[in-house]
Amino acid sequence: MTLKQYDVLVIGAGVTGLYTLYQLRQRGLTVRVLDEAPGVGGTWYWNKYPGCRFDSESPTYSYSFSEELLQEWDWKERYSAQPDTERYLNFVADKFDLRRDIQLSTRVESAIYDSSADHWTVHTDSGEQLRGKFLVTAVGFLSAHYVPEFAGLDSFEGQWCHPGRWPEAGMDLSGKRVGIVGTGATGVQLVAEIAKDLKHLTVFQRTANYCLPLRNAPIDPETMRELKTQYPEIFRICRETPHGFVHEADPRSAMQIPKEERLEFYERLWAEPGFKKFLSNFQDVVVPGPANEDFGEFVRQKIRERVKDPAVAEKLVPKNHPFASKRVPCETGYYEVFNRDNVTLVDVKASPIQRIIPHGIKTADAEYELDVIIFATGYDAVTGALDRMEIRGEHGLTLKEKFKEGPRTFMGLQSVGFPNLFTVNAAGARNHVRVMEPLVDWIVDCIAYVHAGGFGRIAPTQESEDAWTAHVVETGARLLRTQADSWYVGANIPGKPRFLLATPDPAPVGRMQRAAIAADGYRGFAIS
Ligand code: NAP
Repeated sequence: MTLKQYDVLVIGAGVTGLYTLYQLRQRGLTVRVLDEAPGVGGTWYWNKYPGCRFDSESPTYSYSFSEELLQEWDWKERYSAQPDTERYLNFVADKFDLRRDIQLSTRVESAIYDSSADHWTVHTDSGEQLRGKFLVTAVGFLSAHYVPEFAGLDSFEGQWCHPGRWPEAGMDLSGKRVGIVGTGATGVQLVAEIAKDLKHLTVFQRTANYCLPLRNAPIDPETMRELKTQYPEIFRICRETPHGFVHEADPRSAMQIPKEERLEFYERLWAEPGFKKFLSNFQDVVVPGPANEDFGEFVRQKIRERVKDPAVAEKLVPKNHPFASKRVPCETGYYEVFNRDNVTLVDVKASPIQRIIPHGIKTADAEYELDVIIFATGYDAVTGALDRMEIRGEHGLTLKEKFKEGPRTFMGLQSVGFPNLFTVNAAGARNHVRVMEPLVDWIVDCIAYVHAGGFGRIAPTQESEDAWTAHVVETGARLLRTQADSWYVGANIPGKPRFLLATPDPAPVGRMQRAAIAADGYRGFAIS
């Protein structure tokens, strides 16, 4: 059988895969992109649940590579909703004629490295095999959806789903008794959006979150015209901030500001949209310590003020983790939902879910009758999507086996024993597009360098991988993101090793490190 041969195979046709394809093509490389979904868009294809939108300011989520695209596309809302973002990605795929190199409805089952020929062979669910000298995984860091193994799920007689696999045809929830398990960013959006249409909503909460008012608004044509002139400045600011957002931190230290002035500052920020409330806050609000606790208490008080029943309010107030140590959800009317007569909040930390029963959910102390259950229970982040494929390197070891104690990589990009495999990992509480573009640019430059130089393979040295892995552990331990149990550290998945699943460095530092490595002839990598 003759295998189809490409310079680069890319897994994933989401935000990252589309950009990777565009840039590889610009370098004259032959590319095939494979995606399980029947449409492009990745996350924005799958997450069709009501209320789904991002928390990055819409213009900052634009691809920056084409001035024409920037001028042609009009964002409709300050924080774009899923249907519009999916439309944007389809618009990009059409405008740049990307579809001819994308194969949809194709799940990659395995990717095996052939050391003798220096290439990867990818096997798909239809039995097809494709060969690529390089393999890029653009599989998303929150794409492997996770439903806990609740006993009795098979016996449930109603409909259930995970928001990351929301049915294409939608779900008719009106007038139904719906249960939502999970109150992360997804659950919070769903709860706020659907509560008013239901006969009854039961929210099963294990950990209360610090949710911030999103303050979304439409973008009128005049404002959009204005924004289009500001793209260079918007992108400049995003390039310089640690997480790729348009919000710059206040250089002052919170606890050195008199209390009254500090609270006034918090109040002013509270009236602002999105993540500005904490990313433009005093710089030490986002590091462990008293400033973080001070602002955390401010947010707790805001929650108490919005919920009428003090007992319900106390359940909704986060108490066991520092502010922003878990990803902070943004919301529109979330807390007011709990003032409605048709909504019940169940604390499943106090009374855990024991099993799913034919007509609902049984906790340790009650049974809840439900027609629909939505498991907004999160994702096996970063490594989950890689683990669900068999990725076998040069010595027969799989990536899953290699990562069983936690990922071991050089800069999250490559791993020893897996030559020519690039994993795009832009994970973190970051503006995905702003952080992903320079990461992919670096990978594409690297691939072009190896290819044009007539080399067969590139992989990190053992020393560089060991040093990077130690850096992630040591530097990561000081970050807010490692102070709670969440997907940031794999702690949301039973049995998964606790390990920071993203770079511990601010985005500009990562970019400088990568640039220096490339300028030094790809220092830390072995090219042969
Ligand atoms: P998540 O943040 O991991 O939240 C999962 C929720 O399910 C948590 O409340 C968790 O409780 C609960 N849960 C998990 N297992 C459970 C069990 N066995 N019993 C009871 N409760 C259980 O997942 P997510 O909400 O899907 O969000 C994931 C990430 O996607 C976000 O952090 C964000 O990065 C991204 N996202 C972004 C947006 C946006 O931009 N607006 C929207 C949605 C998602 P515990 O906290 O106790 O573990």
